[in-house]
Amino acid sequence: MRRTRIVSTIGPSSDSPEVLESILRAGVDVCRLNYSHGEPASKTAIYEQIRGFEEVLGRPTCILADLPGPKLRLGNFTGIVELTKGQSVELHCGMAKMEDASSAKLPVEYAGLSLELNVNDPVLIADGLIRLIVKNTEAKSGGIVTCEVDDGGPVSAKKGINVPGTMVDLPAIGAHDKIALEHALQQGADYIAVSYVRTAADLIPAKEAIKNAGQHVPIIAKIEHPTALMNLDEILDAADAVMVARGDLGVEIPLEQVPMAQQRIIDGALQRGMIVIVATQMLDSMILNSRPTRAEVSDISNAIRFGATAVMLSGETASGKYPLQSVEIMDRIAIATEQGLDSSGARPSGLARFKSTRAVAHAGVELAKVSKAARIVVATEHGNAPRLVAGYQPEIPVTAVSDRIRAARRVQLLPGVDSIIVKEHQRGSETMQTAVAALLDDGRLNVGDRVVAISGSPLAMKGATSTVRMYRIAKDRTIIGAE
Ligand code: PEP
Repeated sequence: MRRTRIVSTIGPSSDSPEVLESILRAGVDVCRLNYSHGEPASKTAIYEQIRGFEEVLGRPTCILADLPGPKLRLGNFTGIVELTKGQSVELHCGMAKMEDASSAKLPVEYAGLSLELNVNDPVLIADGLIRLIVKNTEAKSGGIVTCEVDDGGPVSAKKGINVPGTMVDLPAIGAHDKIALEHALQQGADYIAVSYVRTAADLIPAKEAIKNAGQHVPIIAKIEHPTALMNLDEILDAADAVMVARGDLGVEIPLEQVPMAQQRIIDGALQRGMIVIVATQMLDSMILNSRPTRAEVSDISNAIRFGATAVMLSGETASGKYPLQSVEIMDRIAIATEQGLDSSGARPSGLARFKSTRAVAHAGVELAKVSKAARIVVATEHGNAPRLVAGYQPEIPVTAVSDRIRAARRVQLLPGVDSIIVKEHQRGSETMQTAVAALLDDGRLNVGDRVVAISGSPLAMKGATSTVRMYRIAKDRTIIGAE
């Protein structure tokens, strides 16, 4: 089983039933829906389609809803506008839409941008492909910013804008995010990614909205702003998982600093036993070509070697020409890298939350190691206990046991963990017996194996995680206490 998880962004190149099924079969563990593009309601059918494959594939499908965040964007306009080096272009701030956009004037959604810019500031569009220099700005909200084009190229509606070094005064969760989050929660998204996090406090509105909806959806903090790097420890302590969002990060900080920032984020996450996704441009050339560059292959392999628990495809599967080939090659790179790797030996230490569950998870992993257990089975209601077990990177396979499909879906992002759905019994040992029987039936366990069971007590799933037991599977398939 490949441990590293593959996250794939679903878009026009991959949202047909045929392509979706093919990439799920080829190894996509988590489907990312990017709420920066399209109306939230337009994603309802994609949720249904992805869930529809659970029965066909015989496994849970996991959906990560990625919120737009306080990102500056061009407004809406039709067609593609070509900007040429040396020409002048006006940015009309506070315009969601412009009927007569041209290379001379473009709309910008955020009214306050004209107030925040100064003469000679760079303005980057489309992940830095286009670069403008401010020549004049009206000192009022909703003003016009006149720029000279430094690096030209084509621009289209809603492209992202970065103004490096500027703290844009937008709320962490704005009106658009609220609608997106509500939609994602209604549709049963398994993870929520919060974009442009700058401080731990930026995670609070999403956490509260999830709580108010009566849900337990884990939050992924996207690190893509220099302020987030300054506040990295507090953000990691507050989030459930983290994403190295290299697209925006590589515009907001000098490109050459991105690899070391990536490593800092990975190290901080691993110290805490967190899931860490490395994202963006991993196979960028495959948007157009059927084979990757050697450098891209190395980038994926290095990210895994240095600790990423998941790697992500963006444009490659969302809008590229070769979505299936991109997933296939990423799968092969991950497998080949894992085969050449020992466990990283990283051990969570800076543990702020879930303290007692983490301690029990740690005890279970250590016991499984010394007793040479064939598998760790961990009961869970919402998917937190298996996530904490996975944080200790056991080399022994882990199965999450739950009576909830939503917990099983979340497991798809956890390295080295699979899942099984069984009914909760009155006694934890009965629940574990039922799980073991099913794992014997499908060949994941054999008679004679030792198994470490991590659970609550007396209820395995709904009780707080408090118990570690070691069992041996007897000839009559019952679990008996073992030393
Ligand atoms: C990124 O910037 O790398 C990223 C993953 O975020 P988005 O695709 O939403 O810009």
